[in-house]
Amino acid sequence: MRNAIDHLGRLTELRDRDLLDLSLLQSIRDLVRPDALAIHRVAEGQPARWSSRLRLQSAVTDGAVAHAADAVPLVEFDDLPALDEHLLRARCLHTGERQRSAGPPAWSGFPMLAGERVEAVLELHTRYPLTRQESALVSGILQVFGNFRALLDYSERDTLTGLLNRKSFDTAFFKLLAEGTGTGAGPAGPDRRRGDAGPVHWLGVIDIDHFKRVNDRFGHLIGDEVLLLVARLMNTSFRASDRLYRFGGEEFVVLLRGATEAEALQAFDRFRAAVADYPMPQVGRITVSAGVTRLRPGDTPSAAFERADHATYHAKNHGRDQVWSHEALVRDGNLQDDDKSGVVVLF
Ligand code: GH3
Ligand code: MG
Ligand code: MG
Repeated sequence: MRNAIDHLGRLTELRDRDLLDLSLLQSIRDLVRPDALAIHRVAEGQPARWSSRLRLQSAVTDGAVAHAADAVPLVEFDDLPALDEHLLRARCLHTGERQRSAGPPAWSGFPMLAGERVEAVLELHTRYPLTRQESALVSGILQVFGNFRALLDYSERDTLTGLLNRKSFDTAFFKLLAEGTGTGAGPAGPDRRRGDAGPVHWLGVIDIDHFKRVNDRFGHLIGDEVLLLVARLMNTSFRASDRLYRFGGEEFVVLLRGATEAEALQAFDRFRAAVADYPMPQVGRITVSAGVTRLRPGDTPSAAFERADHATYHAKNHGRDQVWSHEALVRDGNLQDDDKSGVVVLF
């Protein structure tokens, strides 16, 4: 029991969601010793698919137990398994009740709750079915974890759209920057997202076109409904590994992981097209403009934001309903590169 309490103490010290997930898996691994365990989240889309972010595996060789943690590699949405490819896991998600197959080897799926909603499934592979005590222990840890995560969500998420708010943006930005800022000039093939200095990441600013008119014509309540639907379309358009923010008002920011310039533009253009094609109740069609920029070595959140914002302005001034990259605009002589990255002023 002392062991379990230590684990919970460590869990609630963490503020970073990925670390929190990893720590949850490590705690359960140490307490229950399964052969493998993983967290499977749902990636929204048509149809919704399983996005498995984290997996822990234990291999016993010569009596020694080796543990391996995999951050599951980025996979294109269409290559992810559909929900019904894992029936027990899907049942756990839909019913919110633990599911199991007796084995051996045995399988157990525990619902992970975000408020009332099941947001993911924790999956354990064991040689024999879990004992009643083991099941109770896992459920108890998940409950504490869920409550703690809900508290974090409350402070870090925008209440209208459920997207992340500005508060956690800087930390996420620097974390992404620390993963590398490749040139994108790396090899073609499976490694094409990696340049010579690591993966290439992007920041995009999205702004709704003529949103003031929506408010003026239909009122703020309908305006809010549009913001909510735009946020939903963001959730379905971008990958589960991308971070989606509402920066306030009708302005959204995306941190896009590991993509070439063409892929980044394509991702934002897919979202732009999804908005343009979506009939908003009462309001009808609306459009968005977006600007993207590549993260550079020594970048700061405000410098990168400003570059993307300049590209958004270009889209606004050239007919709206468009996506531009700051880099392409500079290359074509349409924008001047006011490079503020890596500039440190010493007094
Ligand atoms: P542009 O195409 O140039 O972006 O035009 P715009 O009208 O969208 O731009 P502007 O930034 O001038 O107007 C943004 C409007 O967004 C102003 C405000 O009425 C509205 N707005 C900001 N926050 C909210 C909100 O939380 N809810 C609603 N309903 N409206 C908001
Ligand atoms: Mg605006
Ligand atoms: Mg606007």
